[in-house]
Amino acid sequence: MSRIAYVNGRFVPKSEAVVHIEDRGYQFADAVYEVWALFDGKLADPEGHFARLERSLGELAIDMPMSRAALTAVLKETVRRNRIREGLVYLQVSRGVAKRDHAFPAPGTPPSVVVTVSRVDRVATEARAAKGVSVVTSPENRWGRCDIKTVGLLPNALAKQKAREVGAVEAWFVDELGLVTEGASSNAWIVDRDGVLRTRDTQANILRGVTRLSLIDVAREAGLKVEERPFTPDEARAAKEAFITGAGTLVLPVIAVDGKPVGDGAPGPVAMKLRRLYIERAKATAV
Ligand code: PLP
Repeated sequence: MSRIAYVNGRFVPKSEAVVHIEDRGYQFADAVYEVWALFDGKLADPEGHFARLERSLGELAIDMPMSRAALTAVLKETVRRNRIREGLVYLQVSRGVAKRDHAFPAPGTPPSVVVTVSRVDRVATEARAAKGVSVVTSPENRWGRCDIKTVGLLPNALAKQKAREVGAVEAWFVDELGLVTEGASSNAWIVDRDGVLRTRDTQANILRGVTRLSLIDVAREAGLKVEERPFTPDEARAAKEAFITGAGTLVLPVIAVDGKPVGDGAPGPVAMKLRRLYIERAKATAV
């Protein structure tokens, strides 16, 4: 259980951690967020997540609330106060508090900053990876700027709920051409019939997953061929393997799509190896 949250300059018990009712994150989803995996108390893929945070804020013309160094110190102090070593660190930055009006508030309105930390049971998540998970498909219905990591996640939440109701762990959005874009909270991958790793290119309307980017490096270093090219749900089912990536899931084998097995219906060796290699690298480069 996370007990302490950081809210606008103060570390407070979570039960007392509140934001204003006129926070623009609350009223307009006018906020961005980042999530870091935490290994042994250290932030994984720090550069990728900070770079994306700065980009997301820049795209929305929200000021970076403090320097990278200061933000790192806040994240790490929140981790320390919660005494969590293995988990997830959540950061949300909104455009701040202002009288409700769609247009931006006056320049100089300070962004709101919230940090929370949650514990992850690595034994349980390794067991889940060893079993694999199911996904379901859902029509792509999100706005055109999914590259910005905003808290406007209603389509993602609805798709994820639909998945949960049928015992699946993730929903894959499928665009009007019948191609998988990404998961509701992860990027989607296959190992195709030729043994080539495929994941959708970032010209498409998807989030530029930090885990995805690191894993492309990890896979190439391991001598695997990676193509940033989309695939259909049928191609995923006909593939040798499928998996998802994200700070929460790391590299998680997918064994069924819409109730039909992927490959032989069990986690594949490539996904399991990549999971191990990704975790090794994330631990070695965490700060
Ligand atoms: N795609 C979506 C929609 C997400 O919400 C996430 C993570 O939350 C990802 C992909 C994976 O991104 P990352 O690897 O940076 O966690």
